[in-house]
Amino acid sequence: MIDQDKLVDVAERWDREIEAKIRALRAVDFDLAYLALLTREGIKPLSRWEKPIDDRPLTILRQMDLHAERIRRKVRSGKVFDETIFGRTAMHLEIYAEHFRDRPVDKSAETVRVEGFLFGYPPCCVSHYVRQPYAPHEFPVHQQEILFHSSCRGCEITPSLIPHYERIHRIVCAV
Ligand SMILES: [Zn+2]
Repeated sequence: MIDQDKLVDVAERWDREIEAKIRALRAVDFDLAYLALLTREGIKPLSRWEKPIDDRPLTILRQMDLHAERIRRKVRSGKVFDETIFGRTAMHLEIYAEHFRDRPVDKSAETVRVEGFLFGYPPCCVSHYVRQPYAPHEFPVHQQEILFHSSCRGCEITPSLIPHYERIHRIVCAV
């Protein structure tokens, strides 16, 4: 059950310092800033950034009260690369590392389930994706585009998430 009184609007506790950090991350990449704020607000327990970033964005993520670290992965050819993961609790980073550190990138059902859990995707959408990865979604493109999961048909959770994703997306656009 959601206590409406506790749903404090981001704007109310908006902080100039965070605004500057969002802007700095956005200068690296819009989605990096968007994921950072979604994670900071708690909609996503953990986020992953797969493109290489230097130490500065990593420091900014930490200054936003997020735990952030690089995780070494492999591709099938054996080549290694670093991902950046960030979350509100060290626990979620540990769970991710336990499953994926030094492991090859794959799209197995197990991987999709673990990632879905950590990235805050509705369980129904995760199960649906495991069964049918490329099923058409039913939300308007502009709504589906701001999500990071593909919604299942008749989803009972995604419609409640959309306004929160939209709100945070608007903030990242506006700073
Ligand atoms: Zn769903």
